[in-house]
Amino acid sequence: MRAARIDGKQIAQQVRDDIQREVAARSAKGVPGLAVVLVGDDPASQIYVRNKRKMCEAVGIYSEEYRLPETAKESEVLERIEALNQNPKIHGILVQLPLPKEIDSRRVLDAVSPDKDVDGFHYLNVGKLVANRPGFVSCTPLGVIELLDRSKIEISGANAVVVGRSDIVGKPTALLLLHRNATVTICHSRTRDLAAVCREADILIAAIGKPQFITKDMVKPGAAVIDVGINRLPDGRLVGDVDFEGVSEVAGAITPVPGGVGPMTIAMLLLNTLQSVKYSEGQG
Ligand code: NDP
Repeated sequence: MRAARIDGKQIAQQVRDDIQREVAARSAKGVPGLAVVLVGDDPASQIYVRNKRKMCEAVGIYSEEYRLPETAKESEVLERIEALNQNPKIHGILVQLPLPKEIDSRRVLDAVSPDKDVDGFHYLNVGKLVANRPGFVSCTPLGVIELLDRSKIEISGANAVVVGRSDIVGKPTALLLLHRNATVTICHSRTRDLAAVCREADILIAAIGKPQFITKDMVKPGAAVIDVGINRLPDGRLVGDVDFEGVSEVAGAITPVPGGVGPMTIAMLLLNTLQSVKYSEGQG
């Protein structure tokens, strides 16, 4: 039997509908606000920023956008962030990555107030995630968990294998799964016999950045496979880290690319912004 397709577009729409209802219901208390800071003119970043703005509008979140030139100094970016940290209309600040190489990304991300760090990249929020305390968690890992939950895939007790250990995807996803009582294995480029480890997974998360790397011989029959990867092939097609066609023959459920994890990332950014306004009112 072919795997069930987990429709990230549809699930992201459900999440946005829930957010829209909640934003409307609390409108008397004030509107959540998100600021996006974009430095330089990377075409992909411009598209992401435009999409974020559109999605904010659609759910009733106020948004501001700050564009600085490629030649902007780190001090200018830091000044902009400091102004946003102080701005009471803004509850979430997102610095679009990548930043130009002359700018120290870590310093910039750590300048965002931890209380407005809706991307969950500030070290205080990373620490809270490790300690399983309330704080902001980066959006893609949150989206992965939301996809599993809304697809009724049991996390507690499952063997979960996360392939990839980056700070923004692999590690936080593994921690979230651990806090939900999965038995978690994290794999990376030095893992021995990756295929054998992956075959133990009831839930397999691919966050590698290598097109169609996970093949059907690496997947346990019936497993849930979540593909975080986004890769552009030379012919222009967008594919994930999982060989969707082959793996669909053995998995129980699988996310497509595009239309899987990608749409969830923005939805969770909106959710974090809503959460931030609630934290600021002391009712998170
Ligand atoms: P990174 O390049 O930061 O991390 C990749 C990870 O994969 C590393 O831990 C690396 O191991 C591991 N890896 C690389 N090659 C192998 C291999 N042969 N076997 C096992 N592990 C391997 O990538 P990101 O985490 O930032 O992103 C991963 C993918 O997710 C990318 O395709 C990216 O575009 C996509 N992405 C999608 C998002 C979305 O919204 N859907 C958001 C963010 C990312 P090691 O640490 O040993 O080098």
